[in-house]
Amino acid sequence: MRAHRIYKKRRRRNSLRYFVSGMVLAGAAILVVIGGTVFVSGKRPKDEKGSGISENIGVDSDELLTLVNAEHPMPSEWQCELVQLNNGQNIDSRAYEDLQQMMDTARAEGYDPYICSSWRSHETQVRLFEEEIQSYKKQGYSEREAEVQAAQWVAVPGTSEHELGLALDIVSVENQRLEESQENTPTQQWLMEHCYEYGFILRYPKDKEDITGIGYEPWHYRYVGQDHARAIHESGVCLEEYVAHR
Ligand SMILES: [Zn+2]
Repeated sequence: MRAHRIYKKRRRRNSLRYFVSGMVLAGAAILVVIGGTVFVSGKRPKDEKGSGISENIGVDSDELLTLVNAEHPMPSEWQCELVQLNNGQNIDSRAYEDLQQMMDTARAEGYDPYICSSWRSHETQVRLFEEEIQSYKKQGYSEREAEVQAAQWVAVPGTSEHELGLALDIVSVENQRLEESQENTPTQQWLMEHCYEYGFILRYPKDKEDITGIGYEPWHYRYVGQDHARAIHESGVCLEEYVAHR
């Protein structure tokens, strides 16, 4: 129950953040490549004490299946080529064409998908996490207590697959809140039904929370390529299960 409460608190706060940023960026969501490419490499968290990280399994032999979660941090050797979209978001170039196809098709069929989050730099995640720690310390928490509190609101740097460049948060323009209500929008229902055709999977399904360690997120999509996405879709497993039982 406690974990559940913590999850709900975190989601509400993230929802507000994304809602605000979504409003700022509204109207600029059409996907067009405008920039060059940027190369990034993953880095280990600066401080892993108490973070729950137990193992770095590295880059998967099939890179698109590389697992990043609380137990498996960003591989230190990870590299990808980023493509910048015209709304300022960046994604791994390997996902770009399929993403473009998915968004074009959805819009042609009358839906209104909007990408509100994609690649995040490790530095951004570190900054967000450290800002959160400072806010708790100002309230009188000790360093250790502040870290624990901060981790309830912001992902520990190095444990969010957004740092890979292969994860996207996609919402409906009509409802930009990262809440379970996303699953009721026609846009989200279309994405959940068809994303595998374009190489994406719904990464944190409702019935896999105990395996992924993440609460249901009917807006977070992960690119794994069309063959793997179809296999995952047809077998009904989550990425952790798929990678473990290949
Ligand atoms: Zn996400």
